[in-house]
Amino acid sequence: MVVGVLALQGGFAEHMAMLAGLGVSAREVRQPRDLAGLDRLILPGGESTTFGKVAVASRLMEPLADFAAAGHPMWGTCAGLIFMARDVGRPQPSLALMDVTVRRNAFGRQVDSFTTALTIKGLRSPFPAVFIRAPLIEKVGKGVRVLSTLDDGTIVAARQGAFLGTSFHPELTRDPRMHQLFLGI
Ligand code: GLN
Repeated sequence: MVVGVLALQGGFAEHMAMLAGLGVSAREVRQPRDLAGLDRLILPGGESTTFGKVAVASRLMEPLADFAAAGHPMWGTCAGLIFMARDVGRPQPSLALMDVTVRRNAFGRQVDSFTTALTIKGLRSPFPAVFIRAPLIEKVGKGVRVLSTLDDGTIVAARQGAFLGTSFHPELTRDPRMHQLFLGI
């Protein structure tokens, strides 16, 4: 198995390091040809508007959509989730793979970053979830399964078929369980 990590901007190096720690082959994706032979793809955190601009300029939007349509699992963390969402609440390029409505920067600014122990479906014990200018999932469509909410009901992790989206950053922890969960899809 070879896992791609979208490396246009943002926290791709941390995902690469987590995958290396798990002994999984991984490749950074910057151009359409980098997708050849990959089995799955992680879209990291960063700035979703920048992902959109660079992906359009790199002619990656259609190859990424084709990669998804071929049934390859994809996982977006934070900005990566926004980039996979159908409705971002404002005009910016998105792959529209998951039938979710997200609200960007829903928890405030960089200084409002926080970590919390989250209960996540599929994990036996709470996960240390890091939120940095994170989006929340406002609405999910019929085919979307909610995997985790904060205590107030705010949705922060969801799955739709082979697509996984998390508001938080598992790659910034030492806990590999979310990566293992994704690799098990
Ligand atoms: N606020 C960023 C956005 O809207 C996401 C932040 C992150 O990925 N940590 O794209």
